[in-house]
Amino acid sequence: MAPRYDAVVVGAGFGGMGAAIQLDRLGLSNYLVLEREDDLGGTWHVNRYPGLAVDIASVTYSYSFEPNPHWSRLFAPGAELKAYAEHVADKYDVRRRMRFGTTVEGARWDDDGEYWIVSIAGGGVVTSRYLLTATGFLSQPYTPPFPGIDSFAGDILHTTAWQDGFDLADRRVAVIGTGATAVQLIPEVARKARALTVFQRTPIWVVPKIDAAIPESVQRLFELVPATQQAARLVNTGLLEALMVVGVLHFKQVKMLHAGVSMLAKAHLWASVRDRRTREQLTPDYDFGCKRPTFSNRYFATFNQRHVRLETERIDHVVPEGIVTADGRTIAIDTLILATGFDLWDANFPAIEIIGRDGVNLGKFWRDNRFQAYEGITVPKFPNFLSLNSPYSYSGLSYFTTIEAQMKHMGRLFGELRRRGETTFEVTEQANAAFLDRVTAKLGSSVFYDGDCATAHSYYFNPHGEAALLRPTSTINAHREAVAFSLDDYAYGKIA
Ligand SMILES: Cc1cc2nc3c(=O)[nH]c(=O)nc-3n(C[C@H](O)[C@H](O)[C@H](O)COP(=O)(O)OP(=O)(O)OC[C@H]3O[C@@H](n4cnc5c(N)ncnc54)[C@H](O)[C@@H]3O)c2cc1C
Repeated sequence: MAPRYDAVVVGAGFGGMGAAIQLDRLGLSNYLVLEREDDLGGTWHVNRYPGLAVDIASVTYSYSFEPNPHWSRLFAPGAELKAYAEHVADKYDVRRRMRFGTTVEGARWDDDGEYWIVSIAGGGVVTSRYLLTATGFLSQPYTPPFPGIDSFAGDILHTTAWQDGFDLADRRVAVIGTGATAVQLIPEVARKARALTVFQRTPIWVVPKIDAAIPESVQRLFELVPATQQAARLVNTGLLEALMVVGVLHFKQVKMLHAGVSMLAKAHLWASVRDRRTREQLTPDYDFGCKRPTFSNRYFATFNQRHVRLETERIDHVVPEGIVTADGRTIAIDTLILATGFDLWDANFPAIEIIGRDGVNLGKFWRDNRFQAYEGITVPKFPNFLSLNSPYSYSGLSYFTTIEAQMKHMGRLFGELRRRGETTFEVTEQANAAFLDRVTAKLGSSVFYDGDCATAHSYYFNPHGEAALLRPTSTINAHREAVAFSLDDYAYGKIA
């Protein structure tokens, strides 16, 4: 029996949309994109909290083949990203393949038919030759199990489930969390709230954000002479690459430069915050790069406001009227904002149950062995499967770098399948093992293993303490290998 579809893509964020565009280009147009939300855009559909914006300049945080000359700022607000996602979906005609409100529960490889059987929550299956999961890294919201949280008498908002129009005016608010999302949100909450307490477990490295509105004349220039925007993208991408390579990957070799970046961030903090004790509490005690650093000009200064307070005591439990700290104080609040991020490793690797050849369960394989994926995209025993949010797949600082490298990998792989007249592929054990050895060796020089990351609580690390999220190579290397990996790294045709 032939499968119903050429491919099923799970997730309609920028990753799933990039994969869909590439499937069309490769002539595999009979595909479905299954999305559990009610619309497309992934991160940029789900997150709508005040202050949401990209923290990678928009000339870089976008598809290189679909520049948007109309970004209103250097760092566009979230709503523009959502609008951009819709524009791309319409222009590349991928929206009609999307099925919203469709949660994929799992997928099982059928060895005889050589296709995937994809199960959908609520019943129903679809069959497809290829399976691509683009379920995101930051897509499964996390709420720490604070005892008593259900008894809280006020309003609770998670940053991934913001109530549009929620009025913070005159409220006594607590924000729990000081990650990249909180850095954007906190200045906005402080503008409205009567009192704001920020609960911090781990301080974050924050560097100044060189942001500004993009004048209409420049937008027109970008539109009329696209090469100007391409040049801006090149310069910005180069700077990000330098930050990544220097700040994170080659920590061992360039400690002096690394120290310079840390000094810049500390100077920013010291120049922004008046109170010495608050300054000290906001100073990270782990190396820059252990955890995703972020950009802001407003976050630190917010703590100078009289109605804003930083709280570093551990949360013990929640009571109807507020939060009780480990030292027994009750902080009275009426609004609790959870900027507690995402469950990365438990809920996302993989986000659905995936059973490959010989009944191998991907989640179990990763946990029983090490987290691994050849070039961050394919895994032995999982034929015709591209796992776009894999260990070692995240390349560089802008996620579009990863998306486009993976699109290139698809191009080379499916091109070879067509040339051979085959429909099935699987990465070899040897190629996968060699890639894992290589990335493991490279990580040795990174800040993750050579730096001091013990107190960072960083999602870059999995529960085994391995920094298995980021690909520890330059993005140039990732893109070169995506178009030049050895074709012998895959087996083609029916796999015994
Ligand atoms: C607040 C925030 C700001 C960010 N800012 C930046 C930034 O400035 N720069 C940057 O590089 N990155 C940023 N990121 C990371 C961002 O997630 C990526 O850049 C990118 O949007 C990821 O795209 P994706 O398609 O891989 O995943 P997502 O956008 O997360 O999309 C995954 C989709 O899969 C769907 N899905 C998951 N499980 C299932 C299932 N079982 N069945 C059906 N559908 C499912 C989800 O509903 C979601 O729509 C940010 C993330 C967040 C949360």
